[in-house]
This record gives sequence, structure tokens and C-alpha cells, in this order.
Amino acid sequence: MLIPKETYVRDEAYLKTVRGQPCLVCGMPGSAHHVMYGQRRGVSLKTGDNWVVPLCHRCHMQLHHYGDERTWWDLQGIEPLDWARKNWEKFNGTN
Ligand SMILES: [Zn+2]
Ligand SMILES: [Zn+2]
Repeated sequence: MLIPKETYVRDEAYLKTVRGQPCLVCGMPGSAHHVMYGQRRGVSLKTGDNWVVPLCHRCHMQLHHYGDERTWWDLQGIEPLDWARKNWEKFNGTN
């Protein structure tokens, strides 16, 4: 698995394409959530924009209240990093 270690992607155009996509959990229109275990974090406590997935407000709140993100995704039976990687590749391929 290829994970860039110290490169933090910042791409507003990409974020725009993620916002409004169906929530990975329930299918409602989503906003952008940075998957926190996508890569090792620096002092900014944020991962790169390539690790963003669509989550609706309700699921987003639930996740942040739950705290342990890895476990929360496991409970939903969803692997957000798969989605993030595929969508990012698609975006860059058709850019
Ligand atoms: Zn949702
Ligand atoms: Zn979030």
C-alpha cells in the first residue's frame, strides 16, 4: 500500500468534487471529512485532501462524537480509505 508519508495534499478543486457526493454511510448529500488515519499526521492534526470522503451532517457528527474513527468505520462495515484512494485516482486521471 502506497501512502505518501510527509506530503500533505491541499486541493480545493478536489474538495469541491467531494462535497455534495452521497454520504458513504447513508447516501444523503455529504460534506468533506478528512479520514484521520489516512496518513501520519503532522502538527496540523489534519490529513491531506486526498484522504477526504463524503459524509452527511448526521453521520459526521456521530463519527466525531464517537471519537475512535477506525472503530466507527469498522462498525459501519465501510473502508473509507478504499473510496478515498479510488476517487482521488479517478480525479487525477481525468483531470
Ligand atoms: Zn450519512
Ligand atoms: Zn470530519
